[in-house]
Amino acid sequence: MKEIPHLTFDLDTLGVSTGHLVVPKGADCEALSLPVFSLNKGEGPRLLITGGNHGNELEGPIVARRLVEWLPEAQTCGRVIIVPEINPLAVQAWTRNTPIDGKNLNRAFPGRADGTVTERIADAVSRVLLPMADTVFDFHSFGPTWDTPSAIITHPIANADLMAKTLRMAEAFKLPVTLVWEYHDTPGMFDIWAHSQGKVFICPEFGGGTVSTEALAIHEAGVRNALIALGLVEGKAEHPTFRQQKSSQTLETLLSDELRSPARGIFEPRCSMLDEVKQGDLIGVLHSMESLSAGAIDIYAPTTSIVYAIRSGAYVEADEEIVYFARPLKL
Ligand SMILES: [Zn+2]
Repeated sequence: MKEIPHLTFDLDTLGVSTGHLVVPKGADCEALSLPVFSLNKGEGPRLLITGGNHGNELEGPIVARRLVEWLPEAQTCGRVIIVPEINPLAVQAWTRNTPIDGKNLNRAFPGRADGTVTERIADAVSRVLLPMADTVFDFHSFGPTWDTPSAIITHPIANADLMAKTLRMAEAFKLPVTLVWEYHDTPGMFDIWAHSQGKVFICPEFGGGTVSTEALAIHEAGVRNALIALGLVEGKAEHPTFRQQKSSQTLETLLSDELRSPARGIFEPRCSMLDEVKQGDLIGVLHSMESLSAGAIDIYAPTTSIVYAIRSGAYVEADEEIVYFARPLKL
């Protein structure tokens, strides 16, 4: 008989349970066993936390493990399910996409039972875990080539009620930025699928660059704030300190706020995340690698705005994203 995705333990068991989510084997690889933690304290909110959706964003798996350590002491009701790495193959390879099939798990939802390994993972998460939750936190980060603050990102949601609930939940993290991001490449994203199922889906983007202890502390504090807001944990929510400040701002990024490289080369940033720039300000320089006599290309801010994320000294191809601008959210 063909195996179907399943958990190796009963989520209804009260207290702490651990086991695995089994993703069946397919033509391209053997079955996968993803470690799962569950803490069931009866009635209350039902939360699913996932990390490692993209394999080179490791803040999520680390913060997820910290939660596994302190939640048993802190959680007072409801059920929390934690899967620190939903794409272990990508984490092992430290790549955004799954090496076996080259696919991006966050473009593969809701997945396919008879698909490639990435599609089978998405299918297992969609069918087995997602129905067990009302709220989902899927931990991401911008990855090592971006300068960007810790933020909660959500895409615009057509359902106004779900959008309002999602924004409230996002702001409850009290991270430096809450961002409503109009983005072009959304088909197959986990959040889009979860929204279609009526779930509140939160995507913490835990900054860029390297995995620093400061960033991890901010992320962990943000998740604790969110658990307090959900009523799963008691305590008082507090803004984590970021750049000597305890504050947060809610921004939006529109499709037109994406700036792409005019050519290929080494991108040198001339401003930093959260800088306020005016139209015409120099924001970066592109160095050609073909010739040292070809002058560098100056790149200017197209409008007055806030730099949400900027490439931090990376080689970029022509037409590759180099800056995302943002502005205060108008409701
Ligand atoms: Zn990601």
